[in-house]
Amino acid sequence: MKRINLLGAGLAVACLALASTVAPTAATAGAAPAGPRLVAGEAHGQVRPHAASKRGSRTPNMTYHGGVIMPSASSQAIFWGTSWGTNSGDKVTGMDSWYAGFGGSNYAKTPAEYTGSNGSVGNSLTYAGHVVDTSAASGGGSTSAILAEVAKNITNPDPTGNGYYPVYTDLPRGNAGYCAWHSSGSINGVRVQFAFFWKLDGDSGCDPQDTSGLHSQGLAAIANVSGHELSEAMSDPASPGAWYDGSGAENGDKCAWTFGGPLVTLSNGSQWKIQGEWSNAAYTTGTGYPNSSGQPGCVGGL
Ligand SMILES: [Zn+2]
Repeated sequence: MKRINLLGAGLAVACLALASTVAPTAATAGAAPAGPRLVAGEAHGQVRPHAASKRGSRTPNMTYHGGVIMPSASSQAIFWGTSWGTNSGDKVTGMDSWYAGFGGSNYAKTPAEYTGSNGSVGNSLTYAGHVVDTSAASGGGSTSAILAEVAKNITNPDPTGNGYYPVYTDLPRGNAGYCAWHSSGSINGVRVQFAFFWKLDGDSGCDPQDTSGLHSQGLAAIANVSGHELSEAMSDPASPGAWYDGSGAENGDKCAWTFGGPLVTLSNGSQWKIQGEWSNAAYTTGTGYPNSSGQPGCVGGL
């Protein structure tokens, strides 16, 4: 889902990874506290379920909207919250491994078909490790609050504008209808992409139900939505937007809570249960697996 938000820092785009048990209606998503704000009349600000397309009617494929994509990515993860200093479990080391293995993986290659005004989506990601901020986290519903947290911790963002900074908080989701979101903004005039994640421990609405035994449930849950957000950031990072469909759904949204196989293997050999991503090409050629609306355009990147 795509939103246009007017921030002090300028235009930003956010996409929510909706909780699996929450119907993605406008009313639900709009209930996010102080959250990303819909601009009235933005056609792609509408949030609604992906209607099953009737044969012969409008294609479910995404279309290009004129903006940039991410031809490469450089990333640092930010773990924000008082509990990260003493009680991180396997999440910090696990997400370090996730990002270290993402670049060059088959999963990272799933958006390779999408091009923008600055080239084609690339599959490289340079991971510079994590930062821990043990101040109290807050502002999960606010893109400006999370951008401020990124700016506090990332003083020299990737000058090419391809920095991606995920913020993992220790805040439980509560009644929010989404598990995570991504957005963009600028720090000292440099475009950055960033994302926000709730703590998803014991949160059945955001649980991919990874039974591999490789990770704690909370780590497996943030790993899954990390794939969703990063893939969307790569193919639709900023305003005015690049690739999304007629409902405003990005590649992650269109395949949310569906999986191409038991586990994705990243380039460092680490394995994760991560949702698939929409491929226009796979849908067109009939080689994808079906999303939750039965549209066979998802690829697993296994
Ligand atoms: Zn999304």
